[in-house]
Amino acid sequence: MKCPVCKKSVENFREHAFGHVRADEAYVVETWDPQTASAKLVLYPLLAPLVRGEIKPLQKKFETPDARLLTRGRLQVLEWRRKVRRRRAS
Ligand SMILES: [Zn+2]
Repeated sequence: MKCPVCKKSVENFREHAFGHVRADEAYVVETWDPQTASAKLVLYPLLAPLVRGEIKPLQKKFETPDARLLTRGRLQVLEWRRKVRRRRAS
């Protein structure tokens, strides 16, 4: 799959896409498809890091019960939660 941000062909698009999100170069809209039971990612390039006021309108635009917007901040929260869960499990 070709990355819309850096135009490279990548194998693990999901991990690659999140790398761009972490670098504030893009945001991702993740849509859950119950028919295939898998999530589809769409990566949107950013010209500049998102500021607080820009995130809300994007959430309104993209978020549905089946779709969520992943920005750098959101991703950090999710990863932090995953880490805490892992620590509790061990
Ligand atoms: Zn890329």
